Amino acid sequence: TKWVYSFGDGGAEGSAEMRELLGGKGANLAEMASLGLPVPPGFTLTTEVCTHFYGNDRSYPDDLVGQVNEALAATEEKTGRTFGDEKMPLLVSVRSGARASMPGMMDTVLNLGLNDRTVEALAASADKRFAYDSYRRFIQMYSDVVLGIDVHNFEERIEDFKDERGYTLDTELTGDDWAELVHDYKVIVERDHGAPFPQDPHDQLWGAIGAVFESWMTPRAITYRRLHAIPEDWGTGVTVQAMVFGNMGDTSATGVAFTRNPSTGEKELYGEYLINAQGEDVVAGIRTPRDLTEAARIASGSDQPSLESAMPDAFWGFRSICDTLERHYRDMQDVEFTVERGKLWILQTRSGKRTGRAALKIAVELAEESMITADEAVLMVDPMSLDQLLHPTIDPEAKRDLVATGLPASPGAASGEIVFSSEDAETASNQGKKVILVRVETSPEDIHGMNAAQAILTTRGGMTSHAAVVARGMGKPCVSGAGGVRVDYQNQTLTASDRVLKKGDVITVDGGTGQILAGSIAMRQPEMSGDFGKLMEWADQARRMRVRANAETSIDAETARSFGAEGIGLCRTEHMFFQEDRIVAVREMILAGDEAGRRAALAKLLPMQRADFVGLFEIMKGLPVTIRLLDPPLHEFLPHTDEELAEVAKAMEVEPEKLRERALALHEFNPMLGHRGCRLAISYPEIAETQARAIFEAAADVEAASGETVEPEIMVPLVAMATELVRVREMIERAADAVAEERGKRPVYTVGTMIELPRAALQADAIAHAAEFFSFGTNDLTQTTFGLSRDDTSTLLGTYTTTGILPNDPFVTLDRDGVGELIQIAADRGRETRPAIKLGICGEHGGDPATIAFCEEVGLDYVSCSPFRVPIARLAAAQAAL
Ligand code: PEP
Ligand code: MG
Repeated sequence: TKWVYSFGDGGAEGSAEMRELLGGKGANLAEMASLGLPVPPGFTLTTEVCTHFYGNDRSYPDDLVGQVNEALAATEEKTGRTFGDEKMPLLVSVRSGARASMPGMMDTVLNLGLNDRTVEALAASADKRFAYDSYRRFIQMYSDVVLGIDVHNFEERIEDFKDERGYTLDTELTGDDWAELVHDYKVIVERDHGAPFPQDPHDQLWGAIGAVFESWMTPRAITYRRLHAIPEDWGTGVTVQAMVFGNMGDTSATGVAFTRNPSTGEKELYGEYLINAQGEDVVAGIRTPRDLTEAARIASGSDQPSLESAMPDAFWGFRSICDTLERHYRDMQDVEFTVERGKLWILQTRSGKRTGRAALKIAVELAEESMITADEAVLMVDPMSLDQLLHPTIDPEAKRDLVATGLPASPGAASGEIVFSSEDAETASNQGKKVILVRVETSPEDIHGMNAAQAILTTRGGMTSHAAVVARGMGKPCVSGAGGVRVDYQNQTLTASDRVLKKGDVITVDGGTGQILAGSIAMRQPEMSGDFGKLMEWADQARRMRVRANAETSIDAETARSFGAEGIGLCRTEHMFFQEDRIVAVREMILAGDEAGRRAALAKLLPMQRADFVGLFEIMKGLPVTIRLLDPPLHEFLPHTDEELAEVAKAMEVEPEKLRERALALHEFNPMLGHRGCRLAISYPEIAETQARAIFEAAADVEAASGETVEPEIMVPLVAMATELVRVREMIERAADAVAEERGKRPVYTVGTMIELPRAALQADAIAHAAEFFSFGTNDLTQTTFGLSRDDTSTLLGTYTTTGILPNDPFVTLDRDGVGELIQIAADRGRETRPAIKLGICGEHGGDPATIAFCEEVGLDYVSCSPFRVPIARLAAAQAAL
């Protein structure tokens, strides 16, 4: 087996296609080397080595050492340097690189190859200060990553040393000072590690390789993979690459750039750099980075020179390489570069992470620039990222009480209570509170807190800081680098100018402007036009399935229409019953002792229901509307308080005590499996008949007024047996007959059923005789297939997903193996009986992209989801079809 792939000097053994084997970083370095770009030479150990490592008691394949030595020799030849050489030593970086990017999650070691002798060679070629500073950085990093020694030991030593000398800044330390610190560092290593710091570069190399593979299984890497659904068995590659130095004086620099703005999608080179610095300095956010272009510098009002003006040759060379990379990869790139004594090197390129807004703009513009096709643009945008665009921004009219300003690191706005730690964020969010996570800076340990927070605020770090990058990925608002804010973790306060805010105080973070505001503020929904409209148009051309919305109210129906819903897939009529003006009548109906009593109450409800349906039919203008008959357990409507009971008793003119008895009799121990759904219609046919009548009368009224045909789809819930559906169908037909008689025109309608019980799925062939359509109620179908309560199991499911018993929450993403098989069976058997049967889904899953992909496979006719999910579903349905 070939375990090691070399690259550099205008050629490479690997390529971008070999991402699975080489990891993203290794594959892209190989590709760039083949393109002739200036990439420091090196080699990549494949992800198969990682798999082997974990499959064989953390050991390597036998022939790995030989292959690494060979690749190392090739790297030596390309650089003209030798590992461990006292005159021209080769120094390398050792980095992880998984198939999917996991920024900052795994370990890196830089300057490897330095020891007591090679440091002298480095001092001779650069200067002593640089050489010993590099050496101590290496010892610190290696000790942390490979030997597991706490970095505080080293940091404290530097602080003490500076105190002893009366220094305040690191830059005041001389070469001799750093050499002395290197000595002290080695003492710390020997003390804590029980052995001297390894001097043999080969030992160092294998130590670092091992540590990178080990870092695949750190808790933070595991959490990240879980959040991003990255399989554990993918493994990471390890790339060993010749070092280049951005910190060799004022003609050296290092930086990162996006080929387009990752926040807005604007076509402009966007990034940061630092003169005389190493890569980690830029991302760590310790020094404030400078702008790349003059335009950006002017816009930011910075008085620090841009790369464009400070190093024009390097800048223009870099710019043209960015264009090459973007055209080659046909996507926006995130590029790391270093200038070593005037010479430009490219260290890494990858698809840049971006906000939903940027993703949309970039996809549409790349298609318009003919770099990609419209279908490719559709495939390029993560449907869930549209969520960010549908999220609120601050109402421009609202009064803003400005506390401080930072960088607009991730757009959108959110309000919440201040918390100062990820633990507090998680606890508060579990209690249902909305919180803003406020930190000096964030690290990979904060992922869970960021995930729990509405928005993130940091006082340090730039637009490419950890907080900014991760927040953009999560689609959460973030303001970073708010230098005017002081955070005091001890006292749990933040101070900005003269204002002190404490934990629990409410603030609003506006990630679009960088503003931090006191209190919560009115928000506004964004316009759905421009790029959004274009991408949706392309998606609509590509998709096969229809997208409907679950909606009852006029507001929901209007929203659904404005988001492009092509009908209503589920109108839950019971939601119309909870309104203030009807609940008493509903309670009268439920608590009536006989049919006459129920009919009296239903007579009050009929005109209200009819008016509701008229509203929906009018808004949907001839688009299909599926109306479901009453579904929930009656006890949900029962009066809760004595007052409520008294109110109903008065309306019914009966004794409250009598009513209380009746309410008690309706009590159920397991209501979700009790007297609900079509069972209600079977017990009380007058309820179903009245509802059907309201539907038919409304349809006739709207037809008469608008001239448009209205063909309602009447849906019967919770059917388990074909006989139930047959019976309820008869009730609906009776209502149709009656309305036909009265109006002189027979209503046109279809009757179908929810498939939301396993028995219904299995009996679909029999049920289909009485059903013109099926709608999969995956909420109940998941509940009943798993025997897991949909309302009570969120903590249990948390345990199940974190411990890997379930890959994800089955109430969010459809369980293909179990529930999915039932759906497939029901679709097949339903079609056997009735080949043209219309099939849809209306559970929450109807708005989940992974579930939508499954629905396409089964060949459903439509998905129905909540109105805000409609654009997501349109895009996901298109992707599923492509
Ligand atoms: C379902 O069960 O999936 C469904 C859509 O119905 P409800 O959520 O109203 O039970
Ligand atoms: Mg249901």
